[in-house]
Amino acid sequence: MGSTAQKPILISGAGIASLLFARSLHRQKIPFLVYERDASIVFRAQGYRLRLSAVGLDAIESVLGREDFDRFYDACGKTGGAGFAAIDPLTGETLGVEAPSVSNEPLTSRGGKVVGISRGDMRKIFMEGLEDNVRWSHHVTGYEKTENGVRLIFKDGSKSEEGSMLVGGEGVKSAVAGQLSNGAIKVYDLGSRGIHGQAPTTAFKGLGEGVFRLVDDTTQPNGGKVFIITNVRADDMHDPNINFGWTMGGSPGVIKPENDDYTIIGKPAAKIAKSLTSHWHERVKPLFDNMIEDDAAFWKITCSSPEGVPEWENDPRVTVIGDAVHAMTPAGGNGANTAVRDSDLLGRLVGEVWVQGKGDSWEGVTAAYEKEMREYASAAVKESFGMAMGQFGGDFDLSNAPTVNEYVAPN
Ligand SMILES: Cc1cc2nc3c(=O)[nH]c(=O)nc-3n(C[C@H](O)[C@H](O)[C@H](O)COP(=O)(O)OP(=O)(O)OC[C@H]3O[C@@H](n4cnc5c(N)ncnc54)[C@H](O)[C@@H]3O)c2cc1C
Repeated sequence: MGSTAQKPILISGAGIASLLFARSLHRQKIPFLVYERDASIVFRAQGYRLRLSAVGLDAIESVLGREDFDRFYDACGKTGGAGFAAIDPLTGETLGVEAPSVSNEPLTSRGGKVVGISRGDMRKIFMEGLEDNVRWSHHVTGYEKTENGVRLIFKDGSKSEEGSMLVGGEGVKSAVAGQLSNGAIKVYDLGSRGIHGQAPTTAFKGLGEGVFRLVDDTTQPNGGKVFIITNVRADDMHDPNINFGWTMGGSPGVIKPENDDYTIIGKPAAKIAKSLTSHWHERVKPLFDNMIEDDAAFWKITCSSPEGVPEWENDPRVTVIGDAVHAMTPAGGNGANTAVRDSDLLGRLVGEVWVQGKGDSWEGVTAAYEKEMREYASAAVKESFGMAMGQFGGDFDLSNAPTVNEYVAPN
């Protein structure tokens, strides 16, 4: 076992990947500290649901252990229906259940149900018991190595305490990923924008239970395309106090936040969603007409290189997890599922070295993690990119696509 005087493992960002990894360390009694840019665990605009695959659920179960996983699983929504049921948004007609997507992975993951949870609820549950080890309002801009450790550097110029290892999990714009890979980890802006929104269950009455996809590629400006994905759970569909969410995506140029400022939350996003669907059939229009305007938010479609997670010179004390190293489009619903797989894998590898009392050097841990992660994450990014081409109707020429995580090498 590592000693109690052991330096903590530093984790940047308190997103899904980081918190689940922290939870793994907490369970194994390995010291850690999480540094998050936000001032608190805010839930605004995190209402979008993450669909959990069998692989994702297995990873979460492995980290949380039986009892806590059961509570987590209880909090997940479960929906019947084998696949996406297509509805024509212009006529309201049900077109049938779509054939399995490119991944051939069924939407259902346990008990024959589609399992999902909102990002906000997922973070809240992962955070349980970790509160004292999370430092809010810490904007990470990079790190520095010390003789036997590493420190995070923050935007105000201050530094963290010394850690024995650093795990970067700050999402698509990760400074740690940029520095570690010397700019090799790139995340491209594919030009498509989306909106996610919520409405009371009563607005979804016309759909019935299931997971639905609505595609309008005939009436949008400039031959563009708008699609909606939503999930109506039988258990909750008659409770008017519950809201269901929907996710809207558009081909490039169709959803245009003012000044391309996709960080705006609320009415501006709601206004665009309503105008793009104002002529849709009354079976589906209440999803937008009755939406809770303040909760609407834009999102931006980004993706790492479909060629795969690049190589960089391994650093035994620094590595990256989640979107920071493998950003994916929402097509295929695999971003969070791959992120939690990283948390589980890295947590197990760290634990194996910790019990041998070698937690001061962590030799071989990051290399073993990166080797395995590169394989499954590269496949997931490639698949998600391919699926997005079809779903979003873009050709996504990456040679001209801007990156969102510009890395400026230090002088
Ligand atoms: C609309 C939508 C629908 C989606 N649906 C699915 C789905 O169905 N299934 C699925 O598997 N995936 C889905 N995804 C993808 C999924 O949300 C991501 O893959 C997942 O959240 C990645 O987790 P993460 O922890 O790596 O990053 P994040 O969840 O992005 O967390 C990063 C954290 O780091 C913090 N941070 C950022 N910068 C800094 C900084 N400089 N310093 C300190 N902290 C910082 C952030 O505030 C945040 O808390 C969807 C995404 C969207 C947008």
